Amino acid sequence: MKSIREYLWFNTDERVEFINITRKVQEIIDENGIQEGLCLVNAMHITASVFINDAESGLISDFKEWLEELAPHEPTSQYLHNRGIEDNADAHLKRQIMGRGVTVAITEGELDFGPWEQIFYGEFDGRRKKRVMVKIIGE
Ligand code: ZN
Repeated sequence: MKSIREYLWFNTDERVEFINITRKVQEIIDENGIQEGLCLVNAMHITASVFINDAESGLISDFKEWLEELAPHEPTSQYLHNRGIEDNADAHLKRQIMGRGVTVAITEGELDFGPWEQIFYGEFDGRRKKRVMVKIIGE
């Protein structure tokens, strides 16, 4: 059995951005020749998420709008977390809703998804270097 740990790095142009990382995760599986196992993918920051959903552009916009309604960035003074130098309370809340990460089975060398499932990185306080961990246990 192999144990693999790799990182995907991001530095988004926008403060909030969603990136489909399915291909990058599959590449790590391919490069390491994993046929059967489990693949954990999680954000290493408390203002970003990894989640699974449909790669449909309308839905991605819907997520952004819905999250902004639930936890608006402005006015930043509405949050206790922003009393000091922080202005990212909304990003912490958005990350909590969208989750820290996902685990996907690997079957016959492929991520074993349900219909339309894709893995996304959700950035909520971007424009700086952040990373996602990919941990694979398998053979
Ligand atoms: Zn913060």
